[in-house]
Amino acid sequence: MALRGGGRWARLGSALRGRSSGPRDGGDTPQHRDLRAALRKIIDKEINPFVDKWEEEGQFPAHKVFKTLGQAGFLGVDKPTEYGGMGLDFSYNIAVAEELGNIRCGGIPMAIGVQAGMATPALTRFGSDELKKQFLAPTIAGDFVACLGISEPGAGSDVANIKTTAVRKGDEYVINGGKMWITSGSQADWMCLLANTSEGPPHRNKSLICLPMNLPGIHVAKKIDKLGMRSSDTAQIFFEDVKVPSKNLIGEEGKGFTYQMLQFQEERLWGVATVLTPLETIIQETIDYTRQRKVFDQSVLHNQTVHFRLAELATEVELLRSLLHRAVALYVEGNDVTKYASMAKLKAGRLAREVTDSCLQFWGGMGFTSEVLVSRFYRDLRLMSIGGGTDETMLSIICKYMEILPSK
Ligand SMILES: Cc1cc2nc3c(=O)[nH]c(=O)nc-3n(C[C@H](O)[C@H](O)[C@H](O)COP(=O)(O)OP(=O)(O)OC[C@H]3O[C@@H](n4cnc5c(N)ncnc54)[C@H](O)[C@@H]3O)c2cc1C
Repeated sequence: MALRGGGRWARLGSALRGRSSGPRDGGDTPQHRDLRAALRKIIDKEINPFVDKWEEEGQFPAHKVFKTLGQAGFLGVDKPTEYGGMGLDFSYNIAVAEELGNIRCGGIPMAIGVQAGMATPALTRFGSDELKKQFLAPTIAGDFVACLGISEPGAGSDVANIKTTAVRKGDEYVINGGKMWITSGSQADWMCLLANTSEGPPHRNKSLICLPMNLPGIHVAKKIDKLGMRSSDTAQIFFEDVKVPSKNLIGEEGKGFTYQMLQFQEERLWGVATVLTPLETIIQETIDYTRQRKVFDQSVLHNQTVHFRLAELATEVELLRSLLHRAVALYVEGNDVTKYASMAKLKAGRLAREVTDSCLQFWGGMGFTSEVLVSRFYRDLRLMSIGGGTDETMLSIICKYMEILPSK
């Protein structure tokens, strides 16, 4: 496939790469702000006007939306230029994630996250040039929709316990098993699949494989009906003797578990970044609503219990942003930030539930309707405590890194 060498996205990327960094504001330099402003225009014109319709339909058109974002360069800001990316550092991807929080639902930013920051980091870092041309370049361009296949019906938190196998036969892998909860699974062109490629110990017998989703033996069993994230399709998928070329292996055989743990760092930081803006939006919309809503002859906001709570929650969001940007800065310098990424994800999950719960209450009956954003985010942002690892998984990782318990 021909890689694109020009266009608006490339000019934006090279303009940003070439400029010296100015003062930072919450992790953002003027270059980050330029990138965010360009993305905001697309969100306001191409995405937000259609969100209510897509939420109602239970699916957004991923190919159409990703093509728009891909053409503008937003699916590969931190990916290498030779595969169509902008070649910027990871902090720009985080700026994109924060800006995507202006989309008026959680489902679309999550699916974009899978495409730009969850299914592709290991391929970018460890994949062969041929694989990157075949899968990464069209994913960055928005021609392919990507999904990430880790979880299974019997293994979510316990990733090491997955049962899907990829058995090497000649120059092919034969795949059997199934995956559960796969974001964009019913629209995806390829999956970054984690499978057992040997009988060895569970942390050394797994591999990541680029799996085209149009191969015989792949069955998308069902689109899962969900509490929230309704515009993002979530699928259960089965594999029955699916044959894939062995050259589709990402990096080395047996290193898949380690690659996935590394890949999780970006996924978790991205997830944290996408909730910051919705939380601020909900707090602001709650301030606006409660200011004009009169109860017992005074505005709801006038009650100290209401405005103190909102001020407290806004403070917590700022603290979360500081932790996120600390972790991102360390990550950009090449450090292992598993502990900080896990802390940030834990806090983001908890805070998302607190903010949406408190704010929904301040809206009274209106908060219980589908007409207000707070009720949508009350449902959608609960996923922050589940997807990409639950709060309890984050706590286990933090304990491990703090050496709270003796290692087994
Ligand atoms: C909308 C949605 C989209 C998703 N997208 C994807 C995707 O694209 N790709 C993908 O691979 N997966 C995806 N997932 C799966 C997600 O990552 C898993 O749901 C998550 O990892 C939890 O796994 P589980 O659902 O099997 O829960 P389980 O592992 O069954 O956990 C059940 C409960 O046990 C708790 N628990 C676990 N360990 C401990 C412990 N040590 N101590 C105490 N309690 C514990 C958990 O916190 C949880 O409360 C998605 C899930 C959802 C809901």
